[in-house]
Amino acid sequence: MKLPVINNAPIEVEDFSFQSLVDFVQPIYFDNNATTRVDEDAVMAMILAAERDYGNPSTFHVYGQASRKLVEEARAEIAKFIGCKSQEVVFTSGGTESINMAINSAIKCSPYKNIISCKTEHGATLNTLLELEKNGYNVHFLSVDSNGQFDIEEFREVFRQKFNHEVALTSLMAANNETGTIHSIDNLNEAFMTTFYHLGFSHLDAVQVAGKLNLSQYAQNSYLDFLSISGHKFHAPKGIGALMIKEGRKFTPLIFGGSHEEGRRAGTENVPGILAMAAVAKKFEPMKDDNRQLFIKLLLEKIPEARINGGGIPNTVNVSFPYIHRESMVYLLSKLGVYCSVGSACAKGLEPSHVLRAMGTECQFIHGAIRFSFSKFTTEDEIKRSADIIQSAYVKLKDISI
Ligand code: PLP
Repeated sequence: MKLPVINNAPIEVEDFSFQSLVDFVQPIYFDNNATTRVDEDAVMAMILAAERDYGNPSTFHVYGQASRKLVEEARAEIAKFIGCKSQEVVFTSGGTESINMAINSAIKCSPYKNIISCKTEHGATLNTLLELEKNGYNVHFLSVDSNGQFDIEEFREVFRQKFNHEVALTSLMAANNETGTIHSIDNLNEAFMTTFYHLGFSHLDAVQVAGKLNLSQYAQNSYLDFLSISGHKFHAPKGIGALMIKEGRKFTPLIFGGSHEEGRRAGTENVPGILAMAAVAKKFEPMKDDNRQLFIKLLLEKIPEARINGGGIPNTVNVSFPYIHRESMVYLLSKLGVYCSVGSACAKGLEPSHVLRAMGTECQFIHGAIRFSFSKFTTEDEIKRSADIIQSAYVKLKDISI
């Protein structure tokens, strides 16, 4: 059997029979909000950490101390990437753990039982907060407008009237993983400042802006306590992330054990992951918007009835194809060599997107909504080729559905 080729390496999947264009053309990977291809410098860093610098950074011999030095250099690199101090960076296993650490610490360090978040947050935040609701916490999920922006008036009202200024935590995302909508930085700043002045904690889920936009615009807000990032969303491997914990703020760990990470996150450090993430962070340049703009232009030229949902970060386009079933479209596109997704990779099943529902998107547009997400490796040629392929898939499915 002829196997498809990605990045010049054949996919080793048994019984993976492709009877489609994928046998003939280079597939186009447009699912980078789910996860990214690992950068070659990150791969090299991992190999060296596995084969050469494999000491445990908590041991005192030369091998251990060599690893410790590398980890601390990597911490400084990640701090530069985030725009914070080295001692504010705690390495974690990824976005979900960072978010859980921030939420857990805030509720344990605050006397209050009230939390403010937003309806369009990622499952890592939403489901953690829903669990807390079962345990006596009051969570208010802010509504959003048709672009996915939360309303600062609603925040003010809830903060003052509903929760009487007694808020343990405000947890909001910087940009949405499904639509790419960037929450207004002025609104985020006001929410974090208000929370701070009333002795609450603030957390920013920056998972989808890391590697795309400058994080310092968020991290340097002195009212923000926690900021989460995840390596695999910006070309580091899976299983590594970080939580920024603002210096001097109260913190209590989620995971207990040894005194790693200054007692803030127990467990032997994932040295290969840490060094790999730092290697990518070192190369960071804010993403250009050219690919996204070209993609939208071509797509709307070819399919004028398509509709763009939200948008903002330079790599994400969420498109609704009216009266088309998104699963059929994603399946057909994958047969044609374009890999995209129906929304969050973490939301399994056929549930309509909670993000689009919160944005008030009409039913026929929700069911046909697909996310295309690019990366720094995406080429103009891929954008152009994909637009033709998407058009042909759409025409085919439209013929069946009408
Ligand atoms: N937050 C957002 C906005 C995400 O998109 C994701 C992953 O899709 C996460 C958090 C969870 O990150 P991880 O996969 O590293 O646990």
